[in-house]
Amino acid sequence: MEQKRIKVKDLLVSKAYGSEVNVKGWVRTKRGNKQINFVALNDGSTINNIQIVVDVPSFNEDLLKKITTGAAISVQGKLIESAGSGQTVELEAISIDVLGVADPEKYPLQPKKHSLEFLREKAHLRFRTSTFSAVFRIRHAMAFAVHEFFNKKGFFYMHTPLITGSDAEGAGEMFRVTTLDDKNPPLNEDGTINYKEDFFGKETNLTVSGQLEGELGAMALGEIYTFGPTFRAENSNTTRHLAEFWMIEPEMAFYDLKDNMDLAEEFLKYMIKYALDNCMSDLEFLSKRLQEEEKGKKADDRSMELVEKLRFVLANDFVRLTYTEAIDILRNCKPNKKKKFKYVIDGWGADLQSEHERYLVEKEFKKPVILIDYPKEIKSFYMKQNDDGKTVGAMDILFPGIGEIIGGSQREENYDKLVTRMNEMGVPTDEMDWYLDTRRFGSATHSGFGLGFERMMLFVTGMANIRDVIPFPRSPKNAEF
Ligand code: ATP
Ligand code: MN
Repeated sequence: MEQKRIKVKDLLVSKAYGSEVNVKGWVRTKRGNKQINFVALNDGSTINNIQIVVDVPSFNEDLLKKITTGAAISVQGKLIESAGSGQTVELEAISIDVLGVADPEKYPLQPKKHSLEFLREKAHLRFRTSTFSAVFRIRHAMAFAVHEFFNKKGFFYMHTPLITGSDAEGAGEMFRVTTLDDKNPPLNEDGTINYKEDFFGKETNLTVSGQLEGELGAMALGEIYTFGPTFRAENSNTTRHLAEFWMIEPEMAFYDLKDNMDLAEEFLKYMIKYALDNCMSDLEFLSKRLQEEEKGKKADDRSMELVEKLRFVLANDFVRLTYTEAIDILRNCKPNKKKKFKYVIDGWGADLQSEHERYLVEKEFKKPVILIDYPKEIKSFYMKQNDDGKTVGAMDILFPGIGEIIGGSQREENYDKLVTRMNEMGVPTDEMDWYLDTRRFGSATHSGFGLGFERMMLFVTGMANIRDVIPFPRSPKNAEF
């Protein structure tokens, strides 16, 4: 009789030598000779494989031929202490069922190293590689850590809408949602499309942020967070932008900018610690992979070892400085003076590009940096207006290798100031009346921020391209699978 299935992860730490167990999984490699075969089997529960030892003469030849890379098999076997170094247990096969073959002539994944670019085209199968299984196990752990962190703190998980009727935040960067017939849309007298006839009776889009609705929740429940998909039709084909990404947006009543910074730093460190405590074998694998990849680079250009980097961020306070201080540093730094930046910083008011953010983090401070008090012209209408009349209580958190990982602010709670700013910036106050009600009735200091989940994943896994930390990336000209 077949034993109950045991996952590879549990089997590898089992000491029940001599007992009979069943494992199911996918073949990574098979090697050996006419007498004995070694099959490395992985079931996704861990980065590590269980080695199956097969006494060739006692098995049907046709059956063994079907055990190729990618095939799914079920193995009944005896647990034995491993003779080989590195692993503690292996399985002596008693019987094997081939559940699903993988014709080696056709199976796209060979038992060799494939490039990440190749695997991106095979995203439906890349879960089966060590690299991507590690990345997506860590992704799960990070998502779990998000909920654990906020739940422990008494925040409420709030589901904000994905379809929105307001385009206050994302002018020009939004995906339209419509059920109108694109070949024959209803028209107004002036020839423009009549959205009154559309599904929602108005123009609707996919959300670029849940913040505005999040604020409504915070001004009643106290502390909330969102964690959901976000859509941006920005045509920026970078290694840090997706058209569909996941964002975590906490919003807190009675928090000022300092409280906001403290929470964000604690949150990022919590996630990093969670990864170190729960994902070490995957992190170690990714670290080795990274070091392998950087072998060709000069010592100066190599990044800090992954686990060391995570521990370093955990152990150090983030640097906090104002935009104005940052501009002074940037204006006088070598790459700026030698015009090495693509965008040269010539004065106060310039928007910071990722090259500037990374200079501050990687060269100047060599630590995560929280930048606050940005010029109001380069930030959103809802940010708290500072007394200087020039800056707003924004905070961006910049991470090594990434640039901006968090964008947040204290929110303007004063009705008159908010409306004035909306008018100055051309944000329609009539459409946003519901938002303004929070400032009309029981307004109070409040703050929040947005963390791009995939940017955090880039940092924790050390992967270089954001398309490699989300299962099925959506980016310009790419919505495969
Ligand atoms: P960036 O300047 O890098 O485009 P942003 O200023 O547009 O970022 P926010 O609108 O503040 O970003 O969004 C909050 C967070 O969401 C960012 O700090 C980042 O981590 C993440 N983020 C923003 N746009 C994207 C994107 N297109 N793909 C993935 N993550 C994103
Ligand atoms: Mn952007």
